Amino acid sequence: MGSAALRCFCCGCLFTSVTWTLLLFIYFNFSEESQGFRHVPIKGHEPYKPFPKKVHPRDSAGLPDGPRSGNVGNSLGNHVGVPAETNADLSPEMGMIFNERDQDVRDVGYQKHAFNMLISNRLGYHREVPDTRDPKCAKKTYPAGLPLASIVICFYNEAFSALMRTVHSVLDRTAPHLLQEIVLVDDNSELDDLKKRLDDYIQENLPKKVTLVRNKQREGLIRGRMIGASHATGEVLVFLDSHCEVNEMWLQPLLAPIKDNRKTVVCPVIDIISADTLIYTSSPVVRGGFNWGLHFKWDPVPLSELGGPEGSTAPFRSPTMAGGLFAMDREYFNTLGQYDGGMDIWGGENLEISFRIWMCGGSLLIIPCSRVGHIFRKRRPYGSPGGHDTMAHNSLRLAHVWMDEYKEQYFALRPELRNRNYGDINERLSLRNRLNCKSFKWYLDNIYPEMQISGPNAKAQPPVFVNRGPKRPKILQRGRLINLQTNRCLSAQSHPSHKGGLVVAKECDFNDSDQIWSYNEEHELILSNLLCLDMSETRSSDPPRLMKCHGSGGSQQWVLGKNNRLYQVSVGQCMKLVDPLSHKGYVSMAICDGSPSQQWHLDN
Ligand code: UDP
Ligand code: MN
Repeated sequence: MGSAALRCFCCGCLFTSVTWTLLLFIYFNFSEESQGFRHVPIKGHEPYKPFPKKVHPRDSAGLPDGPRSGNVGNSLGNHVGVPAETNADLSPEMGMIFNERDQDVRDVGYQKHAFNMLISNRLGYHREVPDTRDPKCAKKTYPAGLPLASIVICFYNEAFSALMRTVHSVLDRTAPHLLQEIVLVDDNSELDDLKKRLDDYIQENLPKKVTLVRNKQREGLIRGRMIGASHATGEVLVFLDSHCEVNEMWLQPLLAPIKDNRKTVVCPVIDIISADTLIYTSSPVVRGGFNWGLHFKWDPVPLSELGGPEGSTAPFRSPTMAGGLFAMDREYFNTLGQYDGGMDIWGGENLEISFRIWMCGGSLLIIPCSRVGHIFRKRRPYGSPGGHDTMAHNSLRLAHVWMDEYKEQYFALRPELRNRNYGDINERLSLRNRLNCKSFKWYLDNIYPEMQISGPNAKAQPPVFVNRGPKRPKILQRGRLINLQTNRCLSAQSHPSHKGGLVVAKECDFNDSDQIWSYNEEHELILSNLLCLDMSETRSSDPPRLMKCHGSGGSQQWVLGKNNRLYQVSVGQCMKLVDPLSHKGYVSMAICDGSPSQQWHLDN
């Protein structure tokens, strides 16, 4: 039960907001206060080529990490299927490290971007993603004369390949007659390849519709988006993060409700691109809420919202938005007061604009038939210039402008912020006045009545997931994991229930059920039905350990591949026996070389 609950929790984390993944994780695990996603450019804007089914892994050594479309040989031998709803062509071995340069790209990528840049680079700038829409969406038609969209993408130190995949996914999968332009805003990035290389790439390979604005100083995503919007000329603004991939027919379903009513603001469903594997998977349909710590959270959609004739494909109302991905009439963005320009770097702006939309006469909808993937990272890889807690600063501003007496709920949780300076909010207060906005009580009563039921001091509810009960992954194989060089069995160093314990190769004892591993469809290796074999992706020099199964792939995903290798997906390396002559039987991770010490067999 404990492990099932943890599995629920961790899956939930993946579905958490564009803006809040990390914060929510920390919030549930520790405390709310502890802390607040190259090389050779290709020629031209090539038509998409599907991954060749087989490119031999060794070819990778000679390839640039650059923007080819390709796969690193899939050596799964078909006995391990990638889950049906994920990218069938994207092998978990896409991250395999063949040499020091691969290792370097991977390590630098995790450090600077908190996702697997090696895989991102190998994927290239164009790829197909699974169509995650409800099949009924494909039958929908949209009116002619939809307004033209300007896509605004603000970025700071983004990985070049992720940024280009974002831009190309828009170019590849948007009807050209609806695309006014793509405005890229470089928020004064420091990374070298976002300088001349980016200018050259845009100049040589992208259509004139793509423009680049460079901020002279770091502004943060809030003022950055306002700057992008001020350069946009389309009727509708569509904001995207710089590590997204849009899905089939994503834009029309966003534009249609805006055409109907210019005060409607819309969000796509945010699909998940794994930070470790870059695999694109479908998200459940949920709506946005928040808690009194002013953290965004996902809530189930009340059945009353889904009652219409279009059922689960109809747009539904959402009390808040996640923040990174939404579309809005450009003029309405301006009359509604854009964003609060006194907010810095990151955080809070999503709740601020959500409250403002509802309280000042607009509405906020989620559009189930529009899907956009986003790389969900486990941490934000950048800080703010002065090391300030911009989330607290921004939340204070929004509480003082919009929350009336309910700001006390926030201070009850954050007493230390009561007297903190939050700058001048007069302009925002007069905006609220000018727009004749309703009270926060009205918002709670009418738009988010669920909030009052849970009460001010209630603990955040666990993340929800709809349509995905806590299912147990199917076991594909069960047996002893034998090192073929020594015929020893991989076992717990102490006991299989010891969380954090090491694994070592011991003499096989065929009466000992503690040496039995289960290998399941999630690619987890579970010892004695208890704990999962785990590699923290940030410390590939550490040996693997036994940890609670978290069900979110990455550090607990293993592939029993060709040449008997035991490959770890998020580390990109293979398990090896450190010293075949030592009785200690220590194992470690190493570059896959197919040597006898790296050969393992799961014996049924
Ligand atoms: N961003 C920016 N300037 C900043 C911080 C962030 O332009 O100072 C960009 C960032 O590159 C991304 C978007 O704003 O495209 C949202 O930030 P991020 O993805 O880090 O937020 P998350 O999705 O993790 O909540
Ligand atoms: Mn993001």
